[in-house]
Amino acid sequence: MYGSSFLFPALSLLAAVSAAPLDETWLQPRDSPVSALFHKRYTPSPSDSNFTSNYPGASTTPPTNSLPAAWVEKLKSITLPGVSVSNPNNGYPQYANGESGGDQTICSFTYACTTKEDLFDPPANTLALSFDDGPTNFSPSLYDFLAKNNIASAATHFMIGGNILSAPTTMQDAVKAGGHIAVHTWSHPYMTTLSNEEILGELGWTMQIISDLNGGRIPKYWRPPFGDVDNRVRAIAKGVFGLETVVWNADSADWSIGSNAQYTLQSVGSMMDGFIAQNKSKGLMILEHELNDNTIGVFMTAYPKMVSSGWQVKNVADAYGMEWYVNSGKGNTDTVTTMSVAANTLAVMNSTSAESSTSAASASTTSGSAVSASTTSTSGSSGKASAVSGSATKASAAATSASAAAANNSATSSASALVSLGNSAYLLAVVGLVSAVLL
Ligand SMILES: [Zn+2]
Repeated sequence: MYGSSFLFPALSLLAAVSAAPLDETWLQPRDSPVSALFHKRYTPSPSDSNFTSNYPGASTTPPTNSLPAAWVEKLKSITLPGVSVSNPNNGYPQYANGESGGDQTICSFTYACTTKEDLFDPPANTLALSFDDGPTNFSPSLYDFLAKNNIASAATHFMIGGNILSAPTTMQDAVKAGGHIAVHTWSHPYMTTLSNEEILGELGWTMQIISDLNGGRIPKYWRPPFGDVDNRVRAIAKGVFGLETVVWNADSADWSIGSNAQYTLQSVGSMMDGFIAQNKSKGLMILEHELNDNTIGVFMTAYPKMVSSGWQVKNVADAYGMEWYVNSGKGNTDTVTTMSVAANTLAVMNSTSAESSTSAASASTTSGSAVSASTTSTSGSSGKASAVSGSATKASAAATSASAAAANNSATSSASALVSLGNSAYLLAVVGLVSAVLL
């Protein structure tokens, strides 16, 4: 179930803050493009029985009526290109008025259009290694292989938020091994077919769960499922969330093995051999998946050849000499950038965590006068999420099984005195004033 009645007594908040000042290493720099959008909160623990209640249900696009207000406000503040929502058309999106997806205004990657900001051609001699659609039940065998070859930190994992919800500790295993974690949306849809607000939910919630489970590190990279991205989606990803769009310059088609007779382990292996034998004046970014034994096996067979051919295998961030996360440098242990706690700093407090001093006993409380707070209810799944949802079949529309995502009301109370949480699992507390008083 979602939404047990939780209470975050603001007086407890005051007491907690005065007893233990907020750890600044959890906070984003104020000049970060996402400083106002994601906030260190008392991290939901995968071992909590109600862990999933902190997030929307898996396998469906998160409901737009319970998006954090900061995301929606940021969306309103950016200028979007005049690109219509596309019609899916079996994986080949169609646009209004017969406009071509390949023209520069739309620039759909499905129609081979890329922008100068897209990441897909790594520097010479560099093979940017990445795996999409995890975490899955098959991911551990890949992680074992990466670790045995000392390349766990040389891989970027473009993960599906809903899959992380189903297998949070598998995602954390990738982190602990040193892997670089990036965004592959919440439910793996054709992104150009979604409304602006639906795009917010697909990207934002995936960033949130990755951040929650990785020490507050906020992802910096995303890859569109099926490569379905256009300038409207790019603008939201970058303009709202600071995300770099990553596509590819070689498609292994590993995802087709077993579903399309044209693709076998042998034929895909031969294709991989061809990529690896390419001239290295241009780097290589191969689309690969941690979807099943076949896709992982293709990589395991190819990896020794990548090495013997002289490719420098790096994760996507390292391939370009860029930071791994918006608010942290290289690796999963680098310090999260510090900032001073300022008046407009938000902190999201999860009332279910052991780190909080929350009492779940009553439904309302009276805060100290220095605290102003707002609450936002979030959605959760009342059903058990399916273990693996990453469809990678380009030809078929993404068939997502609707889990029982609970509809939610979004409630905001900004008055200083009363914080009424009701069924909300979240409390967005504006602690700036508290901090200003205390620091
Ligand atoms: Zn995918």
